[in-house]
Amino acid sequence: MKNEATLVIIKPDGLKKSLTGNILSRLSETKLKIIGAKVIQVNQDLARAHYHHLKEQPFFLELIKYISGELHGENRVMALIYWGTNAIGKVREIAGATNPEEADPVSIRGAYGRILTTGLFENVIHASSSDDEAEREIKLWFDPEEIVVDLYPAREGEMTKGNKRCWK
Ligand code: UDP
Ligand code: MG
Repeated sequence: MKNEATLVIIKPDGLKKSLTGNILSRLSETKLKIIGAKVIQVNQDLARAHYHHLKEQPFFLELIKYISGELHGENRVMALIYWGTNAIGKVREIAGATNPEEADPVSIRGAYGRILTTGLFENVIHASSSDDEAEREIKLWFDPEEIVVDLYPAREGEMTKGNKRCWK
């Protein structure tokens, strides 16, 4: 089978609850390679672009507050790219079902997720669900030079994500 790349986001609840290590340990069971990783603050534009396909859903605004850290007073998320055979399926399996109450109890979402009183699924991680989705999301969250494998065609040119700061 061919190698695939998949995007994982440890959501603000995962960082707030200090679950990063536990989650990375579970993901290491897949034996996939991490080829990009960073801790970032999610702004409104990134949040809305990431979840644009859900914008008609009644929970959309709360979902934006969730991923941008407003719900948890925690503005960090950790973004990772895992790479290897059947990466998308392997990570989705260990992540568990979207609804943490329905997720296998030994999956990441089953073990650490919960449903908020508002009904929102606070499910600790995001994982890409198809090849097309993974490509769209990875290009949204990462610049080419932040990834150690040449995943997709890239070009020389102006920075796409605003001015970069340099060390003095
Ligand atoms: N979500 C929710 N209620 C739903 C469906 C989704 O709260 O009925 C949230 C949940 O946090 C989920 C995210 O919206 O992870 C994105 O939804 P998607 O259907 O893409 O599920 P995923 O791919 O994350 O399993
Ligand atoms: Mg999804």
